[in-house]
Amino acid sequence: MYEWGIEQATVWTPAGAQKQNVYVDKGQIVEITGALRPCRVRVDGQGKDLLPGMIDVHVHSRDPGLTEEEDWAHSTMAAAMGGITTILEMPNSRPALTNAAQLRERVGAFQENAWVDFGLWALLSPDMAESEIMALGSAGAVGFKLFWGYALDAVTHTLVYDPARYTAPVIPAPSVGDVLSLLETAQRASRVVAVHAEDASIIRHRQQHSPYEVDSYARLLWEHPAVSENATIAVLIELARASGAAVHIVHLASSDMLPLIAQARKQGVDITVETAPHYLLWDADQAASFGAAAKAFPPIREARHRDGLREGIAAGFIDMVGSDHAPHDPARKSRSLVEAPAGIPGVQTLFLSLMHLALGGALDFARIPELLAAAPAKRFGLWPRKGAIQVGADADLVIVNRRGTTLLTDNNQKTLHPQKPWTGLTLMGQVEDVYLRGKALVHGGEFIAQNPQGQFLPPHVIPDGSEVSSPV
Ligand SMILES: [Zn+2]
Repeated sequence: MYEWGIEQATVWTPAGAQKQNVYVDKGQIVEITGALRPCRVRVDGQGKDLLPGMIDVHVHSRDPGLTEEEDWAHSTMAAAMGGITTILEMPNSRPALTNAAQLRERVGAFQENAWVDFGLWALLSPDMAESEIMALGSAGAVGFKLFWGYALDAVTHTLVYDPARYTAPVIPAPSVGDVLSLLETAQRASRVVAVHAEDASIIRHRQQHSPYEVDSYARLLWEHPAVSENATIAVLIELARASGAAVHIVHLASSDMLPLIAQARKQGVDITVETAPHYLLWDADQAASFGAAAKAFPPIREARHRDGLREGIAAGFIDMVGSDHAPHDPARKSRSLVEAPAGIPGVQTLFLSLMHLALGGALDFARIPELLAAAPAKRFGLWPRKGAIQVGADADLVIVNRRGTTLLTDNNQKTLHPQKPWTGLTLMGQVEDVYLRGKALVHGGEFIAQNPQGQFLPPHVIPDGSEVSSPV
């Protein structure tokens, strides 16, 4: 007799969607069948959709060091509320994650209050010895994050936006040659390099020559133009080709380079692409109306980019969507457009945003389990334990009501500082129940778990871009 089962839901498996029964024992999926099996607890899934627990590959929990903005317990609880059962945490906390001893220490601290499972990105910086990069790979870093064109503080490895006016010692931004060498090392460590693809020198030049009013959204777009993403991506493709490294472009906001990326992939360049929900939901006019709440880098661009990114998802050129969850203290975020920091929270609304887009006809619902589960799991070495509803996988499961709606409030958002543009927004669809390895975290839209049981997930296979599912 099985421990429990979800019966009669529309189950989204790699084979498609079908009304089935899913049975769970010891935290794993043990049978998916049209037949009813004996089990101790039955959950009625009639009229509901059952999706795999989803993976947010891009989360900044601000922990350690910046916990007045967000912390690990809040970000992982917010993830669970939104149907995310695994997060990949970005390394640019304070200090940033740059060595194996630190990684082990962080795993220990995070495991004490992780509501969902997690992997850890390490930073890639030109001052890191090859032996340290290899050690981080062996210690279980999911991959390396490279901030293209940014200098780093020499002690904390935090980003330095304006090295000319920075008083403490800095590690200069890596040259293109440095980046090539770092990619070669990451390739030897069998880890993906995630790239923030904005050319800081273009941004600095534009900042010095802006014809626009200081606090206008037009100025933000001028200072962070599509060309700064496009030019970086063009060079990155060639460095990936030359090094054989697995590269991953994070938070793509410009749709211009999708044809070139697709062509490079056909030629065997190992490159994957992630965009973020805010680039799919809104265009620059809407972002301007939200003010600093929607300020992000790269910025939310003109409608043609939003439409191009949606088309890129439909065509399979965009592999996954990550939230780039980047909360700030509301006092800082409520400053003027130019003074407010860039970054939008989003781990709780990642899946909800995509469901909202799908229910409104802007996205095929069937793409969601690929974008948010299968593709991230395959790319980052978590497949087949994570990433799909299949026998032998962890019972990370999400029961969804497509006919419901979700009003985002200060109460039901679990991030440390719920804020706009999400607060007050109503999205189509509802996350009802969320299970992590068979245990309920969320029931009826309420967070019910008592003890944090999230586990660290080192990648267990060598990443391989050819594994990423693509409908094209
Ligand atoms: Zn980010």
